[in-house]
Amino acid sequence: MYDVIIIGSGPAGLTAAIYTTRADLKTLVIAGNRWGGQLQLTSVVENFPGFPEGIEGPKLMENMRKQAEHHGAEIIEKDFESGEFAKSPFTLKTTDGKTFESRSVIVASGADAMWLNVPGEKEKIGRGVSSCATCDAAFFRNKNVVVVGGGDSAMEEALVLSRVANKIYLVHRRDSFRASEIMQKRVRENEKIEILFNSAITEIFGEMKVEKVSLTNLVTNENSEMPVDGIFVAIGHRPNTSAFTGIDVDEKGYIKVYDHNKTNIDGVFVAGDVHDREYRQAITASGFGCAAALEAERWLMTKKSE
Ligand code: NAP
Repeated sequence: MYDVIIIGSGPAGLTAAIYTTRADLKTLVIAGNRWGGQLQLTSVVENFPGFPEGIEGPKLMENMRKQAEHHGAEIIEKDFESGEFAKSPFTLKTTDGKTFESRSVIVASGADAMWLNVPGEKEKIGRGVSSCATCDAAFFRNKNVVVVGGGDSAMEEALVLSRVANKIYLVHRRDSFRASEIMQKRVRENEKIEILFNSAITEIFGEMKVEKVSLTNLVTNENSEMPVDGIFVAIGHRPNTSAFTGIDVDEKGYIKVYDHNKTNIDGVFVAGDVHDREYRQAITASGFGCAAALEAERWLMTKKSE
């Protein structure tokens, strides 16, 4: 029996694990087959305090994991499959068929990239269609690529690609970006990046890999075809909540927070991008992880004294 099981191993989950283990709570982290969350797909992180020169995303996650393990967290690289969340103690199952019991749970399962859902996209993921420039930019040296989106992720993808690619078309459905000013400025000042506002990718073509895309001007409805070698989709994320039956979510699938990182279920807490659609930063996810851990600790103490 664990005191706390943490589902997820991004900044929220691992920070929570550092706090629960230091509070002497027996802690298991169900980290997922691909542990470490979105920062594993990020290049340099410049806004996590304590690293004046920045730090590579995967390195930051490795450090957090080491710190959690150093304090005694057990970490298993398996996916969470289902949970019996009616009341404490909770029974959680991983995809390899194992079950674990815990007095409390912290859900920190994060969010995944969203796709365009246009013809030709799904079958070419990994063959020219990507959601991670940091992972795949090297395959597009001196090539022409499209980035879709108008937020900070799209700006970052375009900037990462500009280090190796020949030309980047940044396609956005509206006539202005929602990205932060500083990121927009960097994009505008980069001569490899051409911005195509009011535009959408409507189809992706190619035999074995991406060869061209169909582009629609959303104002004039004109269609054109653009030969490109790759397309990077950066249109936001979807929270990983489909496996959590019984835990309240909002209309977009984010876990509802009732008070102080508590869910609707007594003893189940939440932290990070799985509930936060406002900030979605590594540092806020870590902060939420800390808060959820402290709340879990307080809750467990109350239960002990009851
Ligand atoms: P986001 O801010 O939600 O932006 C998503 C973008 O994709 C929006 O421009 C949206 O268009 C567009 N979009 C959504 N669905 C679409 C569709 N079906 N087809 C075409 N376009 C679509 O997501 P994000 O860029 O991933 O950023 C998420 C959060 O992480 C933000 O808070 C951001 O600041 C943060 N972040 C920060 C950094 C950094 O600081 N370096 C880097 C990455 C992310 P509309 O604008 O028309 O809605």
